[in-house]
Amino acid sequence: MQSRPSTPPLARTPEEWATYAPSVGGRSFHGKQIFRWLHARGVLDASKMTDLPIAMREALASGGVAPAAEIVLERRSLDDTRKLLLRLGDGATIETVLIPGVSKRGGPSPAELDADASAAAEDEDEDAATLDVVRVTQCISTQVGCAMGCVFCASGVAGLKRHLGPDEIALQVLIGRARLEPHEQLRNVVYMGMGEPLHNYEATARSLRLLTHPDGIGLSSRRVTVSTSGLVPEIARLGEDFGGNIGLAISLHAADDETRTKLMPINKKYPLAVLMDALRAYPLPRRRRITIEYTLVAGQNDTSTEAKKLVKLLRGLPVKINLIPMNPIEASTLGPTDSGGVASFQKILIDAGYSCFVRKRRGDDVGAACGQLALLGAKPKVRRPVA
Ligand code: SAH
Ligand code: SF4
Repeated sequence: MQSRPSTPPLARTPEEWATYAPSVGGRSFHGKQIFRWLHARGVLDASKMTDLPIAMREALASGGVAPAAEIVLERRSLDDTRKLLLRLGDGATIETVLIPGVSKRGGPSPAELDADASAAAEDEDEDAATLDVVRVTQCISTQVGCAMGCVFCASGVAGLKRHLGPDEIALQVLIGRARLEPHEQLRNVVYMGMGEPLHNYEATARSLRLLTHPDGIGLSSRRVTVSTSGLVPEIARLGEDFGGNIGLAISLHAADDETRTKLMPINKKYPLAVLMDALRAYPLPRRRRITIEYTLVAGQNDTSTEAKKLVKLLRGLPVKINLIPMNPIEASTLGPTDSGGVASFQKILIDAGYSCFVRKRRGDDVGAACGQLALLGAKPKVRRPVA
């Protein structure tokens, strides 16, 4: 990765810190030390980096090493999902969500259901020794709002306010990890909060390198999933830059162009045939699958005809399908498919041989749909019923 003078401190790699260290009176070997303080230990106050020379600590502290972010609200749902509202330096608010699974004694966790087969097998081995550990999945944001304009999504209705920096993306994980309880462990990170990660590609890619760096948080790349509405060139770029090792989730939500364009305007630019080609070309490692997200919106994309079209569309692709009954949002009259409709839709996919789960709407009571919390009180510009 190219080191640019504008790279914010929390987004620097150990190598970049090594190059930077002399400018604050240090030596290149301090680079790894600083990175470890920040990302492995989560110490964001340079004056507390006790093994650095005092003059260096002071120089680092005076410039600041992390962007401003304040937790302005934390909502805990009955199922222990915690949604944090963070206010950034410019006053913009974003959200990140901590979603605990169930400990092994209590049965499989949603994170486990989402994990690919090899990661799940790895979990089995580790769990022999860690029966009471609750594995947490963290959902993070990449933009303030979103430019993609999906009609069922609170972030889409709000429109794009700004991109997040790579430091602001990584900081959400440092803040989330610091709030874990003693029996909890951060296991998975999903880029499914506010914003379209691939519309902010550079920052997303750098944050992926930070989160998976072995001297930092050290997440395994197979436990990190980027979700996209289908930006085709950037899907290819992600595949190339990370060798297909980052988990990929596609927000499909429809199996024909007409329906998809109505729900997701990006489909006009990258229609289904082009998107499917991009998925076929993604350099997926063996035994891994692409996650297909399909939000079921009553009367829009939830009939048996549509389920059958989906069966056909995905044929031959290594996928698992997550069905998500739409979380109602204030800005739209659209709503979720009822439970009977969800079950029939799921049955068609399962009967056709697909792995297909219904994602529980965890944290519903705390406004867990994408962008809902950050937008509380913010009036949508337009009310957009689907024609
Ligand atoms: N922009 C990316 C990632 C963030 S959205 C993307 O679209 O993939 C994460 C997921 O939540 C997406 O699948 C999105 O379609 C879904 N989503 C957004 N609003 C929703 C709602 N009101 N109900 C259910 N799912 C929603
Ligand atoms: Fe953006 Fe994703 Fe919401 Fe669509 S679903 S508006 S791409 S955040």
